[in-house]
Amino acid sequence: MCLFCRIIAAEIPSTRVYENERLVAFDDINPQAPMHVLVVPRAHIATLNDLQPEHDGLLGEMVRRAAAIAGERGHAAGGFRTVFNCNAEAGQTVFHLHLHVLGGRTLKWPPG
Ligand code: 5GP
Ligand code: ZN
Repeated sequence: MCLFCRIIAAEIPSTRVYENERLVAFDDINPQAPMHVLVVPRAHIATLNDLQPEHDGLLGEMVRRAAAIAGERGHAAGGFRTVFNCNAEAGQTVFHLHLHVLGGRTLKWPPG
């Protein structure tokens, strides 16, 4: 099982901020901003390249959940960033799809 599958199965502890039948959200272990949450589907999908049409609803739900979590934490108006890293050149290190949700500081653009 991959690292995030193990976190989803609660074999590895995490600070969960949301969960339902389709997705789990937890705090990143190495936060890059005051808010750094990962929104992760329960289904093991390795990268964005592996998405199928049947995942369209799941992806929409992940993005809406990211915005809801940012809003709960007071970052809706000020702003927040959502990121999917895909494969090595983008810095993906865990090959189970995850949406980063970052906020609570001014974020630079372009990213490094
Ligand atoms: P990626 O680089 O693949 O886009 O993002 C992987 C993220 O997972 C990183 O931000 C990293 O800090 C986080 N991460 C790696 N291992 C763990 C872990 O065991 N627990 C949690 N909560 N986050 C992790
Ligand atoms: Zn997995």
